Amino acid sequence: MSILVTGGSGYIGSHTLIELINKGYRDLISVDNYSNSNVSTYERVEKITGVVVKHYPIDLTDQNSCKLLFEQEKIESIIHFAAFKSVPESLANPLLYYRNNLDSLINLLECCQIFSCHKFIFSSSCSVYGNSEELPVTEKSSLGIPESPYAQTKFIGEGILADTVKAHQLLKVIILRYFNPVGAHESGLNGEPASARPNNLVPFITQTAAGLKDKLQIFGGDYNTKDGTCVRDYIHVSDIAEAHILALNYLEKMDKPIDIFNLGTGNGVTVLEVVKSFEQVNKLTLNYEIVDRREGDVEAVYANNSKAYKLLGWQPKFGLEEMMLSAWKWQLYLYEGN
Ligand code: UDP
Repeated sequence: MSILVTGGSGYIGSHTLIELINKGYRDLISVDNYSNSNVSTYERVEKITGVVVKHYPIDLTDQNSCKLLFEQEKIESIIHFAAFKSVPESLANPLLYYRNNLDSLINLLECCQIFSCHKFIFSSSCSVYGNSEELPVTEKSSLGIPESPYAQTKFIGEGILADTVKAHQLLKVIILRYFNPVGAHESGLNGEPASARPNNLVPFITQTAAGLKDKLQIFGGDYNTKDGTCVRDYIHVSDIAEAHILALNYLEKMDKPIDIFNLGTGNGVTVLEVVKSFEQVNKLTLNYEIVDRREGDVEAVYANNSKAYKLLGWQPKFGLEEMMLSAWKWQLYLYEGN
């Protein structure tokens, strides 16, 4: 019986494959449509772990391909990463986001019913909290108005799962709400795929430092925060990956059909603090300017992560400095033509 990792050649998916392999899991199947990643990711996973991951090029929005996969493979649990994740892109093309992120989820859940697959881990996002008045947010904090179609797809996805477990008695679901995953594998050999359409802060920082971008634009300097820039909870991608293995274990003993966990460090950090940390640990100076606010951004959000600590036994290992060091290491690896 296998674990299906959807979006396994993507940023968090590939780091989770590495963690799964490191923990001894071998019956792994990865699928990806390579819309935002590359099949060469599996070579990097192999370089780090020595294991070749079985993978299929599949677009999960196509129900037939989805069913064929389940006919071909005995799938016991699913870790579902495959989704579009850019806030600005979702504002420009909302239907693309609704179609992609929701159709793939629905198709997988239908396959769970047809093929008796009962364990499901879903990648959600802190964006479901919107502009929360309660900080840090706990899993019980009320959900805000999603600020973008991307956030809506996560909010609706959570709702689809909550409804599905009510009707599908054996299904058990864990929703993981990621805060801001950044950094790269400590080897520097795996990180955010180079082919990804970056919109996030840290890839833009490393690209600016590498001279691929002229200047980093900091969106908004007039927020009600300590230095005027937005506050986020940056979390190392390998810590996020590890939480999925703990969640898989927890699913076995979970006494309710669905549960939700925040995955953040608990530290709220401003954009300027991220920039300063990057400059300091990598001994670089970054060219940046403060520009207008970006549509769809919330002012501040950071996690209370004590539920994940208590129930999953999860504790982030890496600090901001390690996130900035590994992100730069990965950018240099890419820069050297890998
Ligand atoms: N940000 C920025 N410049 C960029 C990209 C992002 O100032 O080129 C800011 C963004 O406004 C937000 C924070 O960095 O305050 C994190 O944004 P990111 O897109 O990485 O993640 P999000 O929190 O939107 O999911």
